[in-house]
Amino acid sequence: MFEQKSTRSHFIKHFLTGFGVTVILSACDISGNNSGTTSSNGNSSTTAKPAGQTATVGKTIKVATEPSFPPFESKGSTGELVGFDIDLIKAVGQAAGMTVEFQSLPFDGMIPALQANTIDAAVSAMTITPERAQTISFSRPYFKAGLAIAVRQDNTTITNLDSLKNKKIAAQIGTTGAKKAKSITNAQVREFDSAPLALQELANGNVDAVINDGPVTLEAINSGNIKGLKVVGQLITEEYYGIALPKNSPNLNAINTALTKIISDGTYAQIYKKWFGTEPPQLPETPPASTS
Ligand code: GLN
Repeated sequence: MFEQKSTRSHFIKHFLTGFGVTVILSACDISGNNSGTTSSNGNSSTTAKPAGQTATVGKTIKVATEPSFPPFESKGSTGELVGFDIDLIKAVGQAAGMTVEFQSLPFDGMIPALQANTIDAAVSAMTITPERAQTISFSRPYFKAGLAIAVRQDNTTITNLDSLKNKKIAAQIGTTGAKKAKSITNAQVREFDSAPLALQELANGNVDAVINDGPVTLEAINSGNIKGLKVVGQLITEEYYGIALPKNSPNLNAINTALTKIISDGTYAQIYKKWFGTEPPQLPETPPASTS
């Protein structure tokens, strides 16, 4: 599904240039990563270990994701999880000497699951926000993104955030996009379980716009999964994704150390290039204070 690269590449490159990031989706593959020292990912244990326990090398961590958010996480043709986040957390697990065991959860169920310690981590394009950081812990930022407004192709009146006043807006429940939509004067916000459902509602003519993560909306449009939509203007926020963990998780340091390792040894850039076709931008060690 990531085969049609040239038109999409051009579109995304054009769209994101103003945001300071050049992103080109492509289908190039990476083979292996740099570690070679750990083989623990190959023999994933299915034994449930209590979540939130002491971090130990060789442990299995239960990682939740909501796999309807390509190119970050989705299901491949045989039902396997694929995406930037999936490759990233596997590489992090390998660098940390941990085996990753995936679990699918609805996006709005992740923070409660982290709080209840039924999962050890969530990797699901989750934006680091001060509000969320009150109840869960985040790793250092691993991806720079932002929200985009989508409308139907024939719409000429919605051109920015301001023109969404009094409009019907769809968004995915529990997301920064939904929060942004609710902050717009007199907007009627309809929330859906997944981003594709919100985008389909727009394509069906039942709402005027969708607010969702830019790279995901672009992927939905350019892959042909959703027809008749376009993105307007620039990204309306700057957001950073983090790996989410239970508050003060004993795994936080190991995950951050592993992330820093794969960023500095080139593994991160390799994964980024596989999914976005270009070198990654410089990532801050902590999210800038202005993020939503
Ligand atoms: N980045 C958005 C958020 O954190 C959306 C994430 C998602 O839907 N997976 O709210």
